[in-house]
Amino acid sequence: MIERTLSIVKPDGVARNVIGEVVRRFEAAGLKVVALKMIRLDRAMAEGFYHVHRERPFFPSLVAFMCSGPIVPMVLEGEDAIARVRRIMGATDPAKADPGTIRKDLASSIEKNIVHGSDGPATAGFEIGYFFDALEIPPR
Ligand code: ATP
Ligand code: MG
Repeated sequence: MIERTLSIVKPDGVARNVIGEVVRRFEAAGLKVVALKMIRLDRAMAEGFYHVHRERPFFPSLVAFMCSGPIVPMVLEGEDAIARVRRIMGATDPAKADPGTIRKDLASSIEKNIVHGSDGPATAGFEIGYFFDALEIPPR
């Protein structure tokens, strides 16, 4: 099924000049970038985005990290896009990520792991709407 999913180049990825490398890997896999922007989150925006993790011990640090510099959210479209983006990203902890994944090749820690990807259809819908309004996304 053709799906849309949200990915983000996180502040560490922007700081390390790998926006293009992350986008290149998605495009090389046949995923289409249908929306993309650069923004900086404030604390409330970061807390809202990761609200499912609000009780986790790493939450305050994660929120501070996500606000530490600009990020590049994007909407990717393609066959089975949600699961494929997750496979291209690799496991949350780069030490456990498969060779050839973005996190294995580029990430520095379980927190500073370069990239985000929606983990299911409901999450993808919420997360796309969190960063893009209807006029910024082409009709399907
Ligand atoms: P994301 O949601 O960003 O795509 P993910 O789905 O692989 O990543 P989650 O479990 O949803 O992982 O965690 C969200 C983010 O919180 C992680 O990407 C990472 O930046 C941070 N994080 C997760 N677990 C830890 C941890 N144990 N210590 C520090 N930071 C963590
Ligand atoms: Mg997640």
